[in-house]
Amino acid sequence: MSKVARIPGYQSKNPKQNRGIIGDREIRFKCSLQNVILDVLRGRPGWTEVPGQNSQVPAAQQGTRPSNQQTSGQTQTGNQSRPSNTGSSQSSNIIVPSRFSDGDWDFYWCDREWLHQNYDTMFLHEHQKILHFRNHYELTRKNLMVKNLKRLRKQTEREQGKTEAQSFDFYPTTYELPSEYHIFVEEFKKNLGIIWIMKPAAKSQGKGIFLFRRLKDITDWKKGEYQPLSDQTRDVPETYVVQRYIENPLLIGGRKFDVRVYVLVCSYNPLKVWLYRGGFARFSNTRFSLDSIEDTYVHLTNVAVQKNAPDYDPEKGCKWSTQQLRKYLAAKHGVDKVQKMFKAIDNIIIKSLQSVQKIIINDKHCFEMYGYDVLLDSELKPWLIEINASPSLTASGKEDYDLKFGLLSDLLNVLDLENRLTGKEKRIGGWDLLWDDGPIVADDNMDCTPANGSAVSTPNSYLGCFNDRKKQLREIYLTAQSVKKS
Ligand code: ADP
Repeated sequence: MSKVARIPGYQSKNPKQNRGIIGDREIRFKCSLQNVILDVLRGRPGWTEVPGQNSQVPAAQQGTRPSNQQTSGQTQTGNQSRPSNTGSSQSSNIIVPSRFSDGDWDFYWCDREWLHQNYDTMFLHEHQKILHFRNHYELTRKNLMVKNLKRLRKQTEREQGKTEAQSFDFYPTTYELPSEYHIFVEEFKKNLGIIWIMKPAAKSQGKGIFLFRRLKDITDWKKGEYQPLSDQTRDVPETYVVQRYIENPLLIGGRKFDVRVYVLVCSYNPLKVWLYRGGFARFSNTRFSLDSIEDTYVHLTNVAVQKNAPDYDPEKGCKWSTQQLRKYLAAKHGVDKVQKMFKAIDNIIIKSLQSVQKIIINDKHCFEMYGYDVLLDSELKPWLIEINASPSLTASGKEDYDLKFGLLSDLLNVLDLENRLTGKEKRIGGWDLLWDDGPIVADDNMDCTPANGSAVSTPNSYLGCFNDRKKQLREIYLTAQSVKKS
């Protein structure tokens, strides 16, 4: 195994000061995806790719270290390896015979299917890190997420009273179908005229979703017409959720949008949660109206849906950065109101993770990067729409590429397989530690003013705030180096 050039803090010469157990050698990674994450991993100093059975490695990398490998003394903070094609990695189609055996990796960015098929039978070594917890679907399947939230809410009401339980008022009224059909019908009759949204529990990208006002509109669904053709053979109906539609979304320029928030969980027990400063708002292409509830371009903000709109402009896209959004909202609605709204998003993140904390199979080898979808209503109240375990890592343009490259580089910085940090950091690049077995309070001297320049309150939470990640990384690596030396 070749030795890597030493980069600052990569491994201390004194073994007692090393927290990690990957020795002073290259870190071997596997990756199932061909998008920004692969670029990040391939461009990371000291990391080398382990080709999987079907993995495709660029010719330049065959049997050698990546050509864009940085040399000694450089710090990985940016998108040095960004390819000109922002949509995916520049892979050639050469299949390289592996010089590693299949389990010979330190880090695996695997897909969920792979994990489901292999987790129960694989043995993970002390140092190995893998994406996804075994039963992540407890939070990421729409019906299970609501079931878990309802349970914790009830428990909170029992133990701490009604007022405390109100802190769970962030998900729209939801029922699982067909199992809760009769309860739904009772609720439907109490609120005649409102709009409901039907969503397949385990699908994504807006597939199979429709809105309705009349009960008879779901008779077709009841007959099974909404089951995908490929599933016609199934003898049980596909599980859906029916959810109260948020009829008063906050509009900007007359358009509806939702906010993508990135959350990293390194451990469920104790719960350790990081929140990324960056993210984006996804806008619908067509002006909002309740007159045309069958028009998905008006009501669904998924990029996968919007990019098919007839007048969609791929250059412009339909996105704003979260920083731009925060700045706009603060100017329009006032800093205090906006701050309250962002605090309410923190509450959504923590409560939702706590709702599965005892259920998720906690494994120190696993981590999860969630993509939360949050919808704001006209009162600036955030609603949790869903949580994704595999948020899209394909870039829709240069800005999106840079966001995702920074997000993923810093995720690797947080996981710190290189053992360059002290483990006590509250901020690593764009990630802020939000929760570590309890709320994290911000340091007074942190230079993290929101985009509009006003101060933020005590929680260590900076969603939509200024993200000077490269400068911050340089500082913490230098600090960590001197701490380790002393
Ligand atoms: P998918 O997993 O298919 O993306 P989502 O639950 O995220 O399904 O819903 C897709 C889109 O539909 C959301 O991004 C949002 O724009 C809209 N949407 C979903 N649920 C609601 C709701 N209850 N009220 C208003 N809009 C909703």
